[in-house]
Amino acid sequence: MNRGLNRAEQPQLQAAVVLAQCQSTPVVFGIRMQHDGSSAWAATWAFAISAARAAREGYTRTKLAGSFVVATQYPGCPGCGSASFAQCFACKSLGCWSGVDRNWKCPACGDFITLDSTIREMNAGPD
Ligand SMILES: [Zn+2]
Ligand SMILES: [Zn+2]
Repeated sequence: MNRGLNRAEQPQLQAAVVLAQCQSTPVVFGIRMQHDGSSAWAATWAFAISAARAAREGYTRTKLAGSFVVATQYPGCPGCGSASFAQCFACKSLGCWSGVDRNWKCPACGDFITLDSTIREMNAGPD
């Protein structure tokens, strides 16, 4: 009889924080992403953070992949209250987004882009 231990599963990342910038104010903020156990990451919380602290926390060290949704309890951008967020194709930064107008200006690099696809991956740091 085989009494060997099964190899442990890789621990699953259940929550992480991604960094974003406000489009209309100088606010930098963290977005808490939670994994629901399937394949979707849900944005559940947003909080203003200083750029210096964001750099210290290493919010870009891990890559999140899958699909991303905004949870109903997401409080919106701490700078302007925008209900959602978007990702720049050019520099991969995240910024707040109204969730309505598909023409979007990246707050990090200033590029004007048309949002026509969903986010597939983003850089994150520890919760
Ligand atoms: Zn904003
Ligand atoms: Zn950009």
